[in-house]
Amino acid sequence: MLSNIEKGTNEKDKKYKVDRTSEEYKKLELLLAELKREKMYLYKRVQEDLGKKESDKVLFRIYCISKFKEIMEDRKKIANYLVDIEYYNEENKQDRKDILWNCFGDILYDNLCKNIENDKEVPFKKDMYKSSSKREQEIKESREKIKKEQEEIVKIPITETLYNYFMGLITRKRCEKDRYILYILYVLLERFKKKYGDKKSYIRLYKGTKQKGKITAATLDNWLESKCTQKGLERLEKNGYIKQEECQRYKKISLCELPIVEEKDLPQEKILFYAESNNPLLDLWKHNGDRKVRLCEICGSKFLVVGNAKTCTDKCSTLLKKRNKNKGSI
Ligand SMILES: [Zn+2]
Repeated sequence: MLSNIEKGTNEKDKKYKVDRTSEEYKKLELLLAELKREKMYLYKRVQEDLGKKESDKVLFRIYCISKFKEIMEDRKKIANYLVDIEYYNEENKQDRKDILWNCFGDILYDNLCKNIENDKEVPFKKDMYKSSSKREQEIKESREKIKKEQEEIVKIPITETLYNYFMGLITRKRCEKDRYILYILYVLLERFKKKYGDKKSYIRLYKGTKQKGKITAATLDNWLESKCTQKGLERLEKNGYIKQEECQRYKKISLCELPIVEEKDLPQEKILFYAESNNPLLDLWKHNGDRKVRLCEICGSKFLVVGNAKTCTDKCSTLLKKRNKNKGSI
């Protein structure tokens, strides 16, 4: 029912016809996948940055529409292409269609009404999908700025001294992963300090497993791919590397005996790499090769390589296959 957004004269049919082999189609497909990965908290921050004129959802919509317009000018044509991408591509069928409906709801609704021969007015505010190009530019710039800030917050330099300290930790046999745990704790602590100020010299490790957006022992187990966090923490405490303090909803963990680099020595300190991935181990392993880590060829995030994978998820893998197939046909 949604497939032919603009039925009518042949001329119009031609204008809105979807060409799956076109450059625009591929670009829209990649852009849509990219927008689906976008984090909504980014727009909460953009909203604060730009003075709360629009809600985060509206800001995201304006951003999406302006990105689509970089590929195609005509909104109806974009909508037609996106319907095809969302509803006819096997790998997208199960996805939520928020972006499509939020950005082009008026066109889709209008078309539904035409298809069921209903002449009701479209109940959308006329200017809901319009925004000045100046505003679009402001939103794009603010988003860029905040994205950079966010990336800065999680980016922790690992110097040679620190690296040697973590990796040189004497552990019991088969408990070598304790080194990774201590390294993770350090990165989390530094991120926490950057976010909340230097006074917070501890990490909160939340209890239970279903704590949305919070770091739990299960989060670490997941990163380590081994259920060794609880025991590891006990060992690290016993050996004097960390201190744990039980609170009601979380454990406070602080680090002891970290090597201290004097401010004056900092410029000479060699930075080996930056911990910047959500799972800091990916950056460590990328650096030292303990495990095979690659950059996803589609979205650019680091991932643990299984077999000969070139992408981080099935989704990215499908997109890559398509991209390569299209390349071959040109
Ligand atoms: Zn990816």
